[in-house]
Amino acid sequence: SLSEKLQNSLDKLRGKGKITEKDLDLALREVRLALLEADVNYKVVKDFISDIKARALGSEVLESLNPGQQVIKIVYDELTNLMGEKEEKLNFSSKPPTIILMCGLQGSGKTTTSGKLAFNLKKQNKRPLLVACDVYRPAAIKQLEVVGEKVGVPVFSMGTNVNPVDIAKAGIEHATKNGNDVVIIDTAGRLHIDTDLMEEIFTIKNVTNPNEILLVLDAMTGQDAVNVAETFNEKLDITGVVLTKMDGDARGGAALSLRSVTHKPIKFVGMGEKLDQLEPFYPDRMASRILGMGDVLGLIEKAQASFDEKKALELEKKMRNASFTLDDFLDQLEQMKNMGPLSEVLEMIPGIGSKQLKGLNVDEKELVKIEAIIKSMTKKERSNPDIIDSSRRQRIAKGSGTSIQDVNKLLKQFKETKKLMKKFNEFSKVPKKKGKFQ
Ligand code: GDP
Ligand code: MG
Repeated sequence: SLSEKLQNSLDKLRGKGKITEKDLDLALREVRLALLEADVNYKVVKDFISDIKARALGSEVLESLNPGQQVIKIVYDELTNLMGEKEEKLNFSSKPPTIILMCGLQGSGKTTTSGKLAFNLKKQNKRPLLVACDVYRPAAIKQLEVVGEKVGVPVFSMGTNVNPVDIAKAGIEHATKNGNDVVIIDTAGRLHIDTDLMEEIFTIKNVTNPNEILLVLDAMTGQDAVNVAETFNEKLDITGVVLTKMDGDARGGAALSLRSVTHKPIKFVGMGEKLDQLEPFYPDRMASRILGMGDVLGLIEKAQASFDEKKALELEKKMRNASFTLDDFLDQLEQMKNMGPLSEVLEMIPGIGSKQLKGLNVDEKELVKIEAIIKSMTKKERSNPDIIDSSRRQRIAKGSGTSIQDVNKLLKQFKETKKLMKKFNEFSKVPKKKGKFQ
């Protein structure tokens, strides 16, 4: 996948204390190939790589990062920029109802996304109305009605014998009368772009004057999605994109090219068929997902802001010497408490995905328990947990007012953490010399 390929090429730079221009070229060549293979637009890739190279060579030296990490940070920044820097929210009309017009090819996910959006808005205490303007497939209205029922949002329809433009108008009137503050208009798609479809949606736009014209695109179609976006945008001047089926093994190219080709933001991503699987699009999170590094830079920043540096250094030394003990573990957990929810912090450590986190479910409330358990251990046990046999476990459980299962769980978590710390340690090795690129 794109993510794996980028990681592989950047991994080679990761631990380096010094990076030559040759190292950089080699890595960037791989990055370039990975992007092209992921179906990212050729021109986008070209600009992207030359921007990174210019920045890396003119390297801003960040004290806290080694050169390898700096290149990764630059790639991360540029990836984020490519996708639009920040989350773009929906525009709401100051005079309700807000009109959201959904458009896109058949099968891209318009109807599903209309339902997801309605569900989202309902959770924000809005009163959305879904309007069924796909009159070409008899099943389309029924599909929207089913979706509406599932999310508890009313659906306005007039059957298949009425012009979609009139349905849209009537839908808005209905919303005004019934106090619906958002109108989501689900329209018909065709298999390919055709003039009739474009004219119809263009007329609906002119008549309804929408606050949002959301183009729904199937991420699995890669570069085609970008072409579709160009055409729709030219005709309709869309306000944003919803990229669906991001849960599938899309090559990722669409997300990376869309912004620079259309200059329009991706506002949401569809992460599955279920109606609660629509997420706001965060360029920075997407960039870190693509780089497969969790929000590692965020971690570095957060860590620097709230860690007692000396303590962190001590800890790092211990981790390196593999003398990390349960006392340190407790310390670590307490420091992490200041950094925000534990799971959020752990997620930012490279190599830790939600899969690993499951085995390491440290919940804030459990911290109290953990503390009690560790405090019930002897000094010897804390520094060498391997000696904690079943009779010791029993004693510790009793002493801390917990159960043997709790003690077992903690010891397991400790072991896992030690493993993860090793990983983190590999990434965050500080080079002896903080050099520039040569
Ligand atoms: P429309 O023709 O544009 O209205 O598309 P539909 O809403 O009918 O969706 C077409 C198919 O794509 C359906 O089977 C949906 O369940 C599926 N679909 C839509 N969005 C997503 C998504 O984000 N992830 C996945 N896996 N499937 C989706
Ligand atoms: Mg549909």
